[in-house]
Amino acid sequence: MQIKKIGIVGWRGMVGQVLMERMQAENDFALGDYTLFSASATGQSFDGKMYGRDFGKILDAADINALKKMDVILTCQGGDYSKQYYPLLKRQGWHGYWIDAASALRMEKDSTIILDPVNMHVIKQALQRGEKTFVGGNCTVSLMLMAIQGLLKEGLVEWISTMTYQAASGAGAKNMEELVAQYDWVGRGIQKLNTAQSALELEKNVTSLIRANQIPHDHFGYSLAYSLLPWIDSEYEMGQSREEWKGFAETNKILQTTRPIPVDGTCVRVGVLRCHSQGLTIKMKQDIPLPEIEGMLKEANSWVKLVSNKKDVTLTQLTPAAISGTLTIGLGRVRKMRLGESFLNAFTLGDQLLWGAAEPLRRMLRILFE
Ligand code: NAP
Repeated sequence: MQIKKIGIVGWRGMVGQVLMERMQAENDFALGDYTLFSASATGQSFDGKMYGRDFGKILDAADINALKKMDVILTCQGGDYSKQYYPLLKRQGWHGYWIDAASALRMEKDSTIILDPVNMHVIKQALQRGEKTFVGGNCTVSLMLMAIQGLLKEGLVEWISTMTYQAASGAGAKNMEELVAQYDWVGRGIQKLNTAQSALELEKNVTSLIRANQIPHDHFGYSLAYSLLPWIDSEYEMGQSREEWKGFAETNKILQTTRPIPVDGTCVRVGVLRCHSQGLTIKMKQDIPLPEIEGMLKEANSWVKLVSNKKDVTLTQLTPAAISGTLTIGLGRVRKMRLGESFLNAFTLGDQLLWGAAEPLRRMLRILFE
């Protein structure tokens, strides 16, 4: 099938904007004819100057006839959109490729979770079978797999425990704006008191402000500012959150393991704007010397950057402030644990809007063109 027409849905959101920037940077827009669809900005003309291109009129993301004309639909609109329009298009006999950032279709039998530096062979097999549904993985899972690919590809991992520190933008544009609004609201509340405060008084005043019902909380439901939220997504089985469940389910689907690798832990939202971090405990199948482990980790792909386990480099290079907005997968704090010689400690972080979302999607489009 020759690919010419590509429809992009959800380009206005957090993932969508990052995707558009990356496509512009990599000259992906030169590859075909692009049409922009939106559920809420229909009919407007989009000044695509910032992407070096005239995209013409924005079409309605609910216009099935317009969608059906596309060879590829690339969507970052969200799960509800995918659940509604993907089956509708299929029922109407549409045979194009569907590339998606949302989780809704990830675990479907005929969909492939895409992370090509890690599972290019799985993607190629799916294409050879004629499959056409390709879905980006959960951001935290994709970032973890990029970080420890060196150990996974050698079959050295028995199980992984992940403790995550996930940024506000992982929940979307409105949530990220809400976090900034919360900090601002608290800051203004403190200023209004207009009195000298000891550190303890300051803490009491801030705490009372983050407990107040007036703090902006429409999207998170609670204050994330000056706090954290140890539950992401809905309740799932066995006391897990749905985000935690994805760790096991998606890791093993991405890698197409014959013997599933157990992955489990606690996913926590923290007051960071962009960039997901995670602390890992990895149970290795063998006791391998640390220098060998480090060698495998840093050579696995072009994006992982191993930082030596020293305080100064860790604090300058292994933070959301350093990594945010880059394609680098930071990895450090790698050491054997007191739990035993086959237990490895690591800390990793990456921009969840890039490798955790937009980058695998635009690379999948490239794979289709190639
Ligand atoms: P988002 O920022 O909430 O945007 C989703 C859509 O909301 C937009 O494309 C836009 O679609 C609509 N929208 C309505 N009002 C808007 C406004 N004021 N500003 C921007 N967009 C507005 O969500 P997202 O974070 O990009 O996530 C999209 C999908 O990717 C979700 O399924 C999410 O689970 C998945 N994902 C997200 C991340 C992440 O880090 N955020 C990572 C991996 C996967 P219309 O133009 O059609 O109205």
